[in-house]
Amino acid sequence: MNVDVECVVVGAGVVGLAVAREMALAGHEVLLIEAGAAIGTGISSRNSEVIHAGIYYPPGSLKAQLCVEGRRRLYAYCEIHGVETRRLGKLIVARDQAQVAGLKALLERGLANGVDDLRLLDQKQAQALEPALACVAAVYSPSTGIVDSHALMLALQGDAEAAGANVVFHAPLLRASIHVGYFMLEVGGAAPMSLTCRQLINAAGLQAPALARCMEGVPPPSVPDDYLCKGNYFSLAGRAPFRHLIYPAPEAAGLGIHMTLDLAGQARFGPDVEWVEREDYRVDPARAESFYPAIRDYWPGLPDQCLQPAYSGIRPKISGPGDPARDFLISAETEHRVPGLINLFGIESPGLTSCLAMAGRVRQLLDN
Ligand SMILES: Cc1cc2nc3c(=O)[nH]c(=O)nc-3n(C[C@H](O)[C@H](O)[C@H](O)COP(=O)(O)OP(=O)(O)OC[C@H]3O[C@@H](n4cnc5c(N)ncnc54)[C@H](O)[C@@H]3O)c2cc1C
Repeated sequence: MNVDVECVVVGAGVVGLAVAREMALAGHEVLLIEAGAAIGTGISSRNSEVIHAGIYYPPGSLKAQLCVEGRRRLYAYCEIHGVETRRLGKLIVARDQAQVAGLKALLERGLANGVDDLRLLDQKQAQALEPALACVAAVYSPSTGIVDSHALMLALQGDAEAAGANVVFHAPLLRASIHVGYFMLEVGGAAPMSLTCRQLINAAGLQAPALARCMEGVPPPSVPDDYLCKGNYFSLAGRAPFRHLIYPAPEAAGLGIHMTLDLAGQARFGPDVEWVEREDYRVDPARAESFYPAIRDYWPGLPDQCLQPAYSGIRPKISGPGDPARDFLISAETEHRVPGLINLFGIESPGLTSCLAMAGRVRQLLDN
């Protein structure tokens, strides 16, 4: 059987683009197929655009390792490629004494993950940085920042193409079958085609588990159950009195309704947590009601009627409501016994920060 392409990557979000770049730079022949009309139309354009430091995740987890390594690589990559980033720094705040123990545990966890620039601030020190903030203590993370995620994806695409990768749009992978030494793919869309490849990387974001279930020969137990967890954002009319990103102490399913700034200095709040059955990105204005008290907890000066529905994103969860959070799942041969196949499941936050490190991990798994 002739092999048409050596390596097919499915999905042109930030992760698929980073993987295509990594594989092409390593000398592989790469085809990146994307169901949509452009890069980054999925999760990658509906997030907080924060470069996370790597504080929250259990030490030793993929999230911790790939976030810390990915953050360093991402700042360096963006600098070289002229992608705008800003190291604004972030404050994670305890709003009462009961939260201070949790904050200290978070600091310890961050240090264990290798985030070595964290500091615990008392109320006076935190308010010296942000006078409008209400808190009794805060963890200060100077290396947290923001990135122009679309410019990042364009740079990754440019790199991948310069290294010989082909990127094709309107090309949804419909199904795949596994044969000895190769995969047979059926691609739909504008110009339906069948092709074969030796390496297949499923970076289809929200669709990754459903797509893996359409791969004949992939053991069903290796594909996790998937859940959609929407996060809504509201933007602030006017300027926020903050220069740093402000986060409350984290919650079970997310990081809490935090305040981030975009590169133009516009403040937005979110994401909240709304478990949904299907993709629907409308933001219900009524959800602002729960935002006001959550924000006033750390910013009592938030004016009335100042929040406007902005946008929403959907977390590709592989743990359901009330279940413990799961790690990124890079499902490789050891899990599913199929050489040459990588399924990427549950690539929620900090997937944007981790993209370059994750791409490196995927290449190592395939090349070994
Ligand atoms: C609300 C929210 C906030 C977040 N905030 C942050 C943050 O501040 N910092 C951070 O580091 N991370 C954050 N993340 C996580 C980050 O956005 C994601 O981890 C990352 O964008 C995932 O990228 P991806 O390439 O895996 O998925 P996507 O960007 O969704 O790309 C998948 C692509 O696959 C395509 N596709 C699907 N099915 C097929 C098919 N069958 N054939 C071909 N193509 C297909 C889709 O069209 C899509 O373009 C956040 C996520 C959410 C939801």
